[in-house]
Amino acid sequence: MSVSGLCEICEAATIEDQCDRCGRLVCEDHYDRETGLCTDCAAEARRPTDDEQKDDRDYPDGVDEYEF
Ligand SMILES: [Zn+2]
Ligand SMILES: [Zn+2]
Repeated sequence: MSVSGLCEICEAATIEDQCDRCGRLVCEDHYDRETGLCTDCAAEARRPTDDEQKDDRDYPDGVDEYEF
């Protein structure tokens, strides 16, 4: 893929790759190679929602013992 132009996030650096999620063309600084996403999407994908955090805290301490 040959792309030319500026990053759609900072509009200052040349495009490095395309986000797999939102399809934005982003520069090296705004492209997360691990996930193949732009930094915006990567941050969302990694950050657990408040609900998920609540679920974790709701688990009783004895769950591990019970499964054993
Ligand atoms: Zn950028
Ligand atoms: Zn994205």
